[in-house]
Amino acid sequence: MIGYEEHRYDVIVIGAGGAGLRAAIEASAQGATVAIICKSLLGKAHTVMAEGGIAASLATVDQRDSWKVHFSDTMRGGQYVNSWRMAELHAKEAPQRVRELEEWGAVFDRTHDGQILQRNFGGHKYPRLAHVGDRTGLEMIRTLQDHGIHQGVDVFMEFTVLRILVESGRASGVVAYDRQRGRFKAFSAGAVVLATGGVGKAFKITSNSWEYTGDGHALAYEAGAELMDMEFVQFHPTGMVWPPSVRGILVTEGVRGEGGVLLNSEGKRFMFSDIPDLYLNQTADTPEEGWRYTQGDKDARRPPELLTRDHVARCIVREIKEGRGSPHGGVFLDIAWIKEKLPKAAEHIKRKLPSMYHQFKELAGIDITNEPMEVGPTTHYIMGGVRVDPDSQMSSIPGLFAAGECGTGLHGANRLGGNSLSDLVVFGKRAGEFAAHFAADERVVSNVDSSQVEEIIRQALNCFDGDTGTENPYLIQSELQDKMQALVGIVRREDEMTQALEVIDQLKKRSRDVSVPGNREYNNGWHTALDLGNLLIVAEAITRSALLRKESRGAQFRADYPDKDKDLGQVNAVICKGPDGRMEVRHETVSPVPEHLQDVIEEMG
Ligand SMILES: Cc1cc2nc3c(=O)[nH]c(=O)nc-3n(C[C@H](O)[C@H](O)[C@H](O)COP(=O)(O)OP(=O)(O)OC[C@H]3O[C@@H](n4cnc5c(N)ncnc54)[C@H](O)[C@@H]3O)c2cc1C
Repeated sequence: MIGYEEHRYDVIVIGAGGAGLRAAIEASAQGATVAIICKSLLGKAHTVMAEGGIAASLATVDQRDSWKVHFSDTMRGGQYVNSWRMAELHAKEAPQRVRELEEWGAVFDRTHDGQILQRNFGGHKYPRLAHVGDRTGLEMIRTLQDHGIHQGVDVFMEFTVLRILVESGRASGVVAYDRQRGRFKAFSAGAVVLATGGVGKAFKITSNSWEYTGDGHALAYEAGAELMDMEFVQFHPTGMVWPPSVRGILVTEGVRGEGGVLLNSEGKRFMFSDIPDLYLNQTADTPEEGWRYTQGDKDARRPPELLTRDHVARCIVREIKEGRGSPHGGVFLDIAWIKEKLPKAAEHIKRKLPSMYHQFKELAGIDITNEPMEVGPTTHYIMGGVRVDPDSQMSSIPGLFAAGECGTGLHGANRLGGNSLSDLVVFGKRAGEFAAHFAADERVVSNVDSSQVEEIIRQALNCFDGDTGTENPYLIQSELQDKMQALVGIVRREDEMTQALEVIDQLKKRSRDVSVPGNREYNNGWHTALDLGNLLIVAEAITRSALLRKESRGAQFRADYPDKDKDLGQVNAVICKGPDGRMEVRHETVSPVPEHLQDVIEEMG
């Protein structure tokens, strides 16, 4: 039997993105011994890629903003299947969390009078995104890391968690392997916080990095926890479409926030022709009004390019399908046009959107200060995740917590831009705090259960058994991505999703026959083989929930049920592993919004 090392901590945090780092800082501040385990190097978590900003009603740019408006925007964006309690906590606590980042050293862009500058973003009524140019995630990770390393948190970098250990129905630790050397470690813990991010790698075209294989979702599911809202996958409207090697890389909404407009091949600003009733009174009537809004005119309403992401993405798909797309299968996003309005437009664009300027120049040979970009939808974010208690972030398994993109509840059917970074720090902090208390109050100190650990290691090494396996993990992964993109993508239909389930089932069977050559030392084929099981679980969860929701709402668009269904507007899809090992999905009624918050929603219009 392959050996393993044992470690013991009060709280184990899986993931070193914004949610994981904030959870670890808080757990440590509460007196717990804490370890962070992360798949990549510290500093490389996906949060580092976040561009546009972090949403919080600081009201530095527009004093009309408040937690009430932020709450109401988030609920409307989520089409009212959000957890109202999470939306309330988030709107109330985000400003404190942003100011705390500033106290810990984050240098946000400034207003003329030295306050934190806030920018416009889709679905937010007022300028609300604190930002650092278009590199906000980098500043956030840098700040949290700098602060975190002084809290005495241990970090296990380039370790992938394979399984959550569960004893007597509660989370008791994890088993992980070292990606470099292939060695195993078993951690016993009083509480485990999942902060593993999203699932974008289940699709072919995505803005997400290699890490996003749905590990936290799958780890929780396998441990017996519930997942929720998995049908709601956000397709960001603007990813790069050309050249093919960069297809899917994000083009931040900040471009539209700074005045960028969407045009079809006929040069028409097509977003003006399709404004949903829910947003009619908040949307500009004319391009001139839209421009004034982006320049901070408080009497102007936002341009239709800043409607919610689900809607903008669908309008782009319509233009492409109806033959009005750009040469490489997207539409045009033009920020260069602002030179008609601003004297030093090129410098302004480079200052406001330095990464975008660089990205297009280096990767596509396009100067965005002079030419339009070609953009199209890209799989970006999953609103669904581990179902948690809104206040504590504990899942249905005692001692197992989840925060950030791998948790769920805040965003409902559609996330507003900027609401993820604030989600990470608001609920990361809460998860860390409650996990530390749980570990202190409830912990039964024990060593890891060696028989569980040995079985997990045995399964992880199965694919090295060259005599039995014939399948290539990369081919299975790529087939899954192709099929999810084609059959469970931005426009969904029953027959195609049923076909997707059949494919997933076949791929599951094939994945049991995966074979990997070489040894355990930095073996990417092995890592891909181990990730496969997670991708297949999330793909199935997305497809089953999407099939069950026979309506179009937020990020889910069903061509066979194009309208909203009033009854389905009252439910969430909950997923768990059934007693026979099969995936089960059911609808549960959304907890009703209490009267005082209903009044807030109505008052904010
Ligand atoms: C290009 C881009 C731009 C974005 N811009 C914005 C923005 O401007 N504003 C906004 O609000 N949101 C934005 N988002 C969304 C936001 O960045 C993410 O939702 C958020 O960063 C997720 O943070 P997290 O802490 O949940 O996870 P991550 O930052 O992804 O961290 C996940 C961590 O988990 C680790 N991990 C995963 N699996 C395992 C495992 N099995 N074992 C051990 N470790 C594991 C990873 O190594 C990593 O450390 C953007 C997303 C993208 C792709």
